[in-house]
Amino acid sequence: MSILQEKDKQYVANTYARFPVELVSGKGSRVVDTDGKEYIDLGSGIAVTAFGIADGVWQKAVAEQAGKLQHTSNLYYTEPCAALAEMLCERTGMKKVFFGNSGAEANECAIKLARKYAADKKGSDVYTIVTMKNGFHGRTLTTLAATGQEHYHELFQPLTPGFVHTEPGDLADFARIVAENKVAGVLLECVQGEGGVNVLDRDYVKGVAEICAKEDILLMIDEVQTGNGRTGTLYAYMQYGITPDVVTTAKGLGGGLPIGACLMGEKVEAVLGFGDHGSTFGGNPVCAAGACSILSRIDDALLAEVREKGDYVRAAFEGAKGVKSVSGLGLMIGIEPESQPAGDIVKKCIQNGVLCLTAKNKVRLLPALNIPMADLEEAVKVLLAAFAEE
Ligand SMILES: *Cc1c(COP(=O)(O)O)cnc(C)c1O
Repeated sequence: MSILQEKDKQYVANTYARFPVELVSGKGSRVVDTDGKEYIDLGSGIAVTAFGIADGVWQKAVAEQAGKLQHTSNLYYTEPCAALAEMLCERTGMKKVFFGNSGAEANECAIKLARKYAADKKGSDVYTIVTMKNGFHGRTLTTLAATGQEHYHELFQPLTPGFVHTEPGDLADFARIVAENKVAGVLLECVQGEGGVNVLDRDYVKGVAEICAKEDILLMIDEVQTGNGRTGTLYAYMQYGITPDVVTTAKGLGGGLPIGACLMGEKVEAVLGFGDHGSTFGGNPVCAAGACSILSRIDDALLAEVREKGDYVRAAFEGAKGVKSVSGLGLMIGIEPESQPAGDIVKKCIQNGVLCLTAKNKVRLLPALNIPMADLEEAVKVLLAAFAEE
């Protein structure tokens, strides 16, 4: 083991099973390790580096802002924060934005908002939040409670109460939960990321939205992973024919700097007032300036490219040797191996110069939205060979 790896193991909390790869630099969809070995990056730091590594436009926006003013606290106005909120609202039809620093915080804000909305409107006993089995919403105690995967819960009891999980696709079960509980809101991912790149059925999500509208339950869409162009539309919900009350996002929004956002629709824009919520770093000018540069480049042409590249990758793996199934939307792609553990394929790919991820029993690909076609083709060859091996 190298000196760096030994130091990391000794001093950094052992919460991550890292691969034995030490990354030092990169450009676009290529990253380089300490030995000078180059990799094609199909993970983007888990859907974060939306325009790749050290992207020039993003870099300039961030560096300029860092040279002017890096932080002020939320006691004062700053231009990048307001500009980003305006851009998010104009492109989604939402009315207000709360900024935090991560996906979990964006969801915490959504959950607080749903509880306050229901308490104000229906009474303080209406607080249940429904989420989906196999969903993922973060690592804080409350977002863990929202996360419908038991294995994340076991060690940390008691979690925040008031969460009920339902099977995605089973509208009757959702209707039953709504009838049996005092439900304030629903929180779901249109494409479950960590849960295995499961694309939720359009009619199911529309059905959930209809029940929410009828019962005045907040429809909250977690776009932390699916958002910001990842699935081929600015936000994945835009492919579902629904109008959410709340949208949360993070990951790709900052292009590599920590920022999370909770977008609030007309119905809930006034729910959170002075003192109801806050964050020291939320809306930080450097992160917001980076995010403005990212959002402004996610235009129709780029989104069309994301859809085309996604279709190309899925077609390449459909029916390929060693591949059982292919799932996903846009450049959020899951590939289920016939018999090999997904982790074995990821290890082989690392050896052969491609970085990719797993999600449950699948290999998960989240390349930069602007990955050059030549890089994508080269990486697909490496992956196809890894799947084909027994
Ligand atoms: C990653 C993720 C989160 C948590 O985001 P953090 O920034 O790690 O807190 C929440 N929801 C979804 C769908 C995610 O993919």
